[in-house]
Parts: sequence; structure tokens; C-alpha cells
Amino acid sequence: MPDNLCPTERFTDYSSFTEHLANCKKMQEYPKPLAKLITELQKLPTIGQKTAQRLAFFMLKLPDTETAQIAKAISEVKQLLSYCNVCGMITDTNPCYICTSPRRNPQILCVVEESDDLWAIERTNGYKGLYHVLGGVLSPLDGVGPEQLRIKLLFERLQSSRHAPGIKEVILATNWTTEGQATALYLTQHLERFEMTVTRIAYGIPVGGDLEYIDEVTLAKALEGRRKV
Ligand SMILES: [Zn+2]
Repeated sequence: MPDNLCPTERFTDYSSFTEHLANCKKMQEYPKPLAKLITELQKLPTIGQKTAQRLAFFMLKLPDTETAQIAKAISEVKQLLSYCNVCGMITDTNPCYICTSPRRNPQILCVVEESDDLWAIERTNGYKGLYHVLGGVLSPLDGVGPEQLRIKLLFERLQSSRHAPGIKEVILATNWTTEGQATALYLTQHLERFEMTVTRIAYGIPVGGDLEYIDEVTLAKALEGRRKV
């Protein structure tokens, strides 16, 4: 037997086999379907080879019904979700439940980078206005310019709501990273012509901070303490 192949027949029980797999350094030693699962799992953020191996072995031990449910959930998340035509958040209805809610204040618009940031703000329960999700931040080095983001749609949205009861305030809630700040600056300059109040969340958000990972109290205070720019 070539020494790069896993001699599976030498294992007498399942647990010693999976234990061997967990410690196995060479991907080519894995049976092909297992190696494929590990490779695919590594495409996920923060998942390195070790974690991918752990997850794959965990799945091997799950009953078939549970692995089928995981596979179905992954496939449905792409099939059933889309981006709201109005605000750009990830949604299963179009327009989304926030854009269509009569209980939201249509005069305030909060601009965020991604749907994750929107949900982080929603969890504070302190904001009742509308949102606009950019779908990223300006990052010229990565080839992301204004046309790659939903910036033109933001301007169109503001343009069409200039009359009462249109949007009166735009809150720039991009992250406090270099790119998030640059995006907020870009938007500030281009929002001047709309003659609306433009504010920037400030209080308590650390430089380099990602809204998604900031606790709800700090984020609620950051929204309350927003400053005119
Ligand atoms: Zn929406």
C-alpha cells in the first residue's frame, strides 16, 4: 500500500478511525468525500483546516436527518433570500419588513455597511427609523468604488424623498475602520446637495470597531450621541 493512503482496514472500530482522521496531517489520506467536505468548510470565514476537520468529523457522527437539515438550510438561504429593493438588507420578502412597517419613522435614514450592522442596531431597540445598506465600504485598493456599492441608489432614494414627509436626517453608521471612515467622508461630501441633516455615530465606538461586535448598550449610546457632520 502506498504510504500516502490511509490504511482504513487496520481500524477495528469507528472511533479509532475518526481519531486517526482527526490527527491525520495529510489531506490525501482522507477518503475523498471527507476531504471534499473539509476543503469546502475551509472556504468559510474564520474556519482553518483544524476547525474544518473538527466540524466534518462532528457531522459524520450526526444522524442523517440532521445533516440533511444542515444541507437544506444552506441551500435555502441562497434560494429564499434576496436583497430588499429599497434598503438593500437581506430579506425573504421584498420590500423588507422594515421598509414596509408603518411604525418606522420615515424621516430618519441610517446608512450601514452590511445587513449584519443593521441587525446589530435593531437589537438595541433604540432606533425606529429606516435603513440603507451599502453592501460594503469604499476600498480603492480592493477595487471597490462608489459604483460597486449601493451609493447611487442612496442618492436616488434621497432625491425622491426631498419633500414632506421625506427623509430629514441621514445617520452615517459605517464602521470606525479606515474604509468605514473614508466612506462616511465621501457620503458627507456628496450629501451636502440634499440639504438634509447628516450625522455620524460617535460615542463609544472604538477606532477600528465593527458595529456587529459592539455591545447593544454602547451601540445604542453611539446612536443617541450622533453628531452633525
Ligand atoms: Zn428594505
